Amino acid sequence: MSKKLYIKTYGCQMNVYDTVRMHDVMAPLGYSAAESYEDADMVILNTCHIREKADEKVYSDLGRIRKEKDRKTASGEKMLVAVGGCVGQAEGAEIIKRAPYVDMVFGPQSYHQLPEMVTKAIRDNGGVVELDFAPVDKFDKLPEVSNSQGVSAFLSVQEGCDKFCSFCVVPYTRGVEYSRPFATVMTEARKLVDGGAKEIMLLGQNVNAYHGEGGQGGKIAGLADLIDALAQINGLERIRYTTSHPRDMSYDLIAIHGSEAKLMPYLHLPVQSGSDEILKKMNRKHKAELYFDIIDRLRKVRHDIALSSDFIVGFPGETDENFEDTMNLIRRVGYASVYSFKYSQRPGTPAAVDENQVPEMVKQERLARLQALVHEQQIAFNQSAVGKTMKVLFDRDGKHDGQLLGKSEYMQSVYVKEAPGLRGNIVDVKITAGFLNSLTGEVSYLSCERHGCTGSCAA
Ligand code: SAM
Ligand code: SF4
Repeated sequence: MSKKLYIKTYGCQMNVYDTVRMHDVMAPLGYSAAESYEDADMVILNTCHIREKADEKVYSDLGRIRKEKDRKTASGEKMLVAVGGCVGQAEGAEIIKRAPYVDMVFGPQSYHQLPEMVTKAIRDNGGVVELDFAPVDKFDKLPEVSNSQGVSAFLSVQEGCDKFCSFCVVPYTRGVEYSRPFATVMTEARKLVDGGAKEIMLLGQNVNAYHGEGGQGGKIAGLADLIDALAQINGLERIRYTTSHPRDMSYDLIAIHGSEAKLMPYLHLPVQSGSDEILKKMNRKHKAELYFDIIDRLRKVRHDIALSSDFIVGFPGETDENFEDTMNLIRRVGYASVYSFKYSQRPGTPAAVDENQVPEMVKQERLARLQALVHEQQIAFNQSAVGKTMKVLFDRDGKHDGQLLGKSEYMQSVYVKEAPGLRGNIVDVKITAGFLNSLTGEVSYLSCERHGCTGSCAA
């Protein structure tokens, strides 16, 4: 019987990938995607636990969903409500205690068991909690990936983390570091390309720690080996990867940025802080100097590489001087984009019980100063594109009617007027303006008899 499933995704790109895979798992049971929770027979919240705010959102969304469930129950319909993802893993049965209308709770490593969980929830009227922790099991048991990701696709190759940064919940919610075997990743990539993907973003909490069994010659494949093999797939034109840890930026990975044209000139390499003292307290296990050295080596092999990072301000014990070290690191590196966060105390992590918590006002003020600096850099980077012609992959509607949105090689959002033949293609675009978060441009056509265009027609 045909049923509707609505999944709301919070947080990182790995969750976006997991959502796609949950739809794949549920499709054989007759569930197709719903546009909203009001239209759904089942709702899954695929949650994020990384910061307090992400957590709170889940409970406020659950409040709204409860009203819809009550309405449906009153009119004799049924609605299953599930909380999956990292909040599910971290809070488990507590969620059902706090919100008894939730029927199922599961973690990021258990969603391959959704069919069994649904059967149990229907039979027992809720109360299902599944917090298994074996990524090997999950990837072995997931069905083949569907063709539904379009021209730009996500592919999880690595999960979990053994680094235990003192502020982070990931090792507790996603489990130990695990790399999918090389052959499985290659098969999934070919399937995505057959389904129309021109760009693949390789995903992992520490994707550059990738070490997949069964690489060329039976060796363990590192991320550079994987990129090298993926680049041989006809039809795949762009490769990206995220998120990386500085300690796993190996020599061959840096080198391939200079030698492989399909590897896009953009790297998100979080450093979190520019202060050695704070990096030590964060248990990052490297100093700022290592980061500078990596950036220098990357720029030697690919001078135009666009860089991005994550920063946490107001980590416990962070002094004004420590914060200035971060500002100086940002000035020295020069970023194309930055994600910055106020430190958030996460239950169960060592930094959460540190007595030297930084007052909220100080965090707020530091975040504002940091963001003002990175916004200057971001605008300068985007404006430096004006007048240049860039290759843009168009994959979605823009904000306004008649607009298309795509990504430049440097990961900038580029808006153009919609025209035939642009969607799903990589097209030359002349950039006309640069803003804080986007560019606008025009597709310059050469002559084209079919459409009467006066530019290089993309159709
Ligand atoms: N593995 C990546 C690395 O090592 O840099 C980071 C992945 S983490 C899922 C994404 C980002 O969330 C981190 O880079 C960090 O900036 C931020 N983050 C994690 N825990 C946080 C916390 N307790 N408070 C504020 N930001 C946090
Ligand atoms: Fe979290 Fe990244 Fe540190 Fe792992 S390396 S604990 S994912 S911040």
